Amino acid sequence: MGSVFKIAAASIGVGVLVLGCKLLAAQVSGSTALFSDALESVVNVISSGIALYALYIGAKPADDTHQYGHAKAELISAIATGAMILVAALVIFQRAAIELLHPRPLLPLSGGLGLGLLLNLLAGAVNLAWALVLRRVARLERSPALEADAQHLISDVLTTIGVVAALLGAGLLGWHILDPLVALAIAGQITVMGSRTVLTSISGLLDEAPPQEVTARVQELVRTHAAGAIEAHDFRMRQAGPSSFLEFHLVVPGAMSVEAAHEICDRIEKALKQEMRGVVITIHVEPEAKAKHEGVLVR
Ligand code: ZN
Ligand code: ZN
Repeated sequence: MGSVFKIAAASIGVGVLVLGCKLLAAQVSGSTALFSDALESVVNVISSGIALYALYIGAKPADDTHQYGHAKAELISAIATGAMILVAALVIFQRAAIELLHPRPLLPLSGGLGLGLLLNLLAGAVNLAWALVLRRVARLERSPALEADAQHLISDVLTTIGVVAALLGAGLLGWHILDPLVALAIAGQITVMGSRTVLTSISGLLDEAPPQEVTARVQELVRTHAAGAIEAHDFRMRQAGPSSFLEFHLVVPGAMSVEAAHEICDRIEKALKQEMRGVVITIHVEPEAKAKHEGVLVR
């Protein structure tokens, strides 16, 4: 967890730097599109702060009051980030609408607009480099909060490229209407992204089952390591950040000793834990009369 923590803290520093560049760009150019881009960066910095706090909470081990650990804090932070993105989209929609209704000329490319574009490009380059670092760490550590952060930065970079290209065109051709139109496009794009972040995080909070391959692999491992048992059924699995919880019923011959049944359980647990980092396993042992003749048949 240490590396995730440091990365999240550094994220805030990078975010402030990028935000400074973009606010300055919006200020010197007076452009609505650049303002939208800057607003996105404000969201970045705040969400990085929330992500850091969530990581701190999420990394705490299980305790008396939260006996399954605190990993879901990260999902909640991802939802908060998504919600903020949606609010930022609304603010941009509003400002773009005002500018469409009351158009005003852009500053010249040789003056404020050109300087603003340069500053924005610089901010975009910093963002891109950082997003790539973040995404690698997020995948390594299976951290949804960092993943959401990285995803946000990447779309931010795409936005920057689009904004700069369009404003360059607007400046060269004198099509000032492009400015609010680009802002509208940004708002639309971040609306999609924010909704997606919220929806995937909600799936996680609702204990969405792991992908089919994972379930199949779990059953395969149980089948190969449960010699002596009869079947396994009622598999349930849920994911909480970097750890997952697995439970199932194991049917054994009714006359088998507790000691022998427990030995089978230990064998299965060992095999599963070797392959799946951080899995917590609970096995309910049953006599053969409880067999359902479905699920995983051991023999
Ligand atoms: Zn059962
Ligand atoms: Zn035991």
